Amino acid sequence: MIATSTQLTESLLVTHKLGNFFGVSRKVFEQVWNSLTHPEGNCVAYISMEIGADPDVYSPIADLLKVSPLAGQISEQHRFFDSKFREGPQKIPNYSGGLGILAGDTLKSFADCHLPVIAVSLLYRKGYFAQVVDSNLGQISQVVDWHPEEVPGLYLLKDPEKPERPLIIEIPFFTRNQKEHIVPAQIWMKMEVSHNLDYFIPELLLDFDLPETPAFIKSAVSQLYNAESSMIKAIQRRMLGAGILPALRALGISPKTFHLNEQHGVVLATQLIAEQLHNNYIEQTTGKSYKDQILTAANDVAKMLVYTIHTPVKAGHDRFSKLLYSEICSSACKDVLDILAQDDEHPEEYNFTNMAMRVNRSANSVSRLHRDVTHKQFPDFAHKISAITNGVHHLTWISENRSSVFDTFPELENWRSNPGVFRNAARLKNNATFRSDLYNAWKKDSAILIQYINTMLKKHRLQMAETWIDPPNFLSTISDSATELQPDVFTVGFARRFSTYKRADLIFHDLDMLCRIIVDCGYPINLVFAGKAHPADEPGKNVLKYLLSLQQKLHEKSNGLANLIFIPGYDMEVAKMLVSGVHAWLNCPKRPLEASGTSGMKAAMNGVPNISIMDGWWVEGYHNGSTGWKFGHEGPIESSSLNESREELLYFEDSSSFYTLLPNVLTEFYSAELSNDFIDKSIMNLSLNVPIFNTHRMAAEYLQRYDLVLQEHQMAEMAGYAKLYSSDI
Ligand SMILES: *Cc1c(COP(=O)(O)O)cnc(C)c1O
Repeated sequence: MIATSTQLTESLLVTHKLGNFFGVSRKVFEQVWNSLTHPEGNCVAYISMEIGADPDVYSPIADLLKVSPLAGQISEQHRFFDSKFREGPQKIPNYSGGLGILAGDTLKSFADCHLPVIAVSLLYRKGYFAQVVDSNLGQISQVVDWHPEEVPGLYLLKDPEKPERPLIIEIPFFTRNQKEHIVPAQIWMKMEVSHNLDYFIPELLLDFDLPETPAFIKSAVSQLYNAESSMIKAIQRRMLGAGILPALRALGISPKTFHLNEQHGVVLATQLIAEQLHNNYIEQTTGKSYKDQILTAANDVAKMLVYTIHTPVKAGHDRFSKLLYSEICSSACKDVLDILAQDDEHPEEYNFTNMAMRVNRSANSVSRLHRDVTHKQFPDFAHKISAITNGVHHLTWISENRSSVFDTFPELENWRSNPGVFRNAARLKNNATFRSDLYNAWKKDSAILIQYINTMLKKHRLQMAETWIDPPNFLSTISDSATELQPDVFTVGFARRFSTYKRADLIFHDLDMLCRIIVDCGYPINLVFAGKAHPADEPGKNVLKYLLSLQQKLHEKSNGLANLIFIPGYDMEVAKMLVSGVHAWLNCPKRPLEASGTSGMKAAMNGVPNISIMDGWWVEGYHNGSTGWKFGHEGPIESSSLNESREELLYFEDSSSFYTLLPNVLTEFYSAELSNDFIDKSIMNLSLNVPIFNTHRMAAEYLQRYDLVLQEHQMAEMAGYAKLYSSDI
């Protein structure tokens, strides 16, 4: 008998000693929990400072409730979860950019592929920051107001012994003179449910917001990447790294493998090493020096760690003054750091990247080019660094309009479960119906984006009279409704963190030249930008402010043909609208400082071509021009290429290259509205890039480093994804 939809949704309520959960059946819950708590430790703990979900544009549970609402006699509990999932804020503000979005996408694919993985991160009561933008002041940061208890899919774990209380874990912490404190934390669990609700990945978010937590710790961990002082930064890293084992052990989980998504949680390694030393205490009398014992223990611990390095940029690597750091760690931990975190260039500091590089069984970069860069940056470890190119979660990033098209062609059958299916898109290249459906879906997505922008411009225009904020767009200050943007105008998108190496202002380097080209071509163009700068990154904030200052000049000098729009508050929702609504996605970092970049992959998922510097993933995704355009410097990678100073950022060379390219792109677009060449590029993105730059394929490559025992059919499925690509050639 086929269960009715209501029966299906009703069976999604799980009553467990850790709490009541909604979204999978009791059977699924137990299957996942049993595999994670298996005594052999056949699971992976994925550790990340950030996990993107704000607002989560992907929610299989809410989607199901929309098509099959609960009806009839249902319990109070069901009613509670039903309205929470439909109406609650899909918001966990715990990411700043690509690293967190990648973590979220990765865990979604782990769930879809049914891998035994549990994630650990922190819960930030003040989130990262909310961005308001004023045309004169630039970026203004505001505290994010959010309440974990209101978020659907996020659960405060209960103490199994005393179900009326939350489960509390205790994390040792030290202050000056080795004074030990026991810091309590509670655990929120986000259930990352698979696309057809038959599996989930638990994501544990440690929350220090308890009355007993010392105020300085509570405040240090309340905001992601708070950089007010080195001490705050150190405490944040410390609470993540030292919280992992207590949290997992409280749940009876002892993974054989820990995957460090960046080095932020590497304090875990010092703890594991200290434990080994403690356990082997008896052997200390056998004559080995203390240093040798530490090295032996480190070798053992290394067998448990997989480490992904994400950036060659200095700000991405934590270094702390030895003096400062020894104040907050135990003497055993200090001994370990003295040996394993030493930095010959900065002997007075602990270097956490060095520590992570030394203590792992497998280290990987996030693209092929980035592998070559890390080999140059870390010659001592080059032999063990391989490439696993990043991906994105296709079900999260493909727009609804595009999805509807993919659903109707048998060549793409099963694309939701298996993104490898998109290889068949090449067979649709000459299918007139597919081409026109794709074209129409693209038009619909562009219309949504342009409508959003026009509404925003109008809203800012109205608010101008009521608030002290000067609207971030010049177009809002012209009251003429003729300035409304049109969806058939060639629209280029750019959105990412405003770090200086990403050069958001590159294509405006010679504004006169840019305007001359556009006027000579006679074609209109919308340039839509979004992104946040870290609140302490003054140069990054200046680039943002500088962009705003160009809007009027650009508009006037191009006779109104070119408009630069800034959308404040970049988040996943804006990202999804942009990557599907624009006609081309711009990426202009200084090569080779963009280790991978993922927003361009999201565009490719929607069949939107990239215009990009040959950096990060684009070196692998460019396919001789069939999927988009390249521009800029392409020289060999030298150690000097890693220079981040303004003079070394190659503004002149790379912007000139862009100006040479631009007329070709404009002509190709306008030769016929969304011309054949554009649809060709779109289809080639689907067929060449979607099968590669997705997180299912990436998960399959990680699985080869994870050392898990899986069932045969699952091994076969994952081998299928792994066969789609080899990152490390
Ligand atoms: C994808 C994404 C990013 C990362 O984009 P990159 O191209 O890797 O810099 C950052 N923020 C949001 C909201 C995203 O969706």
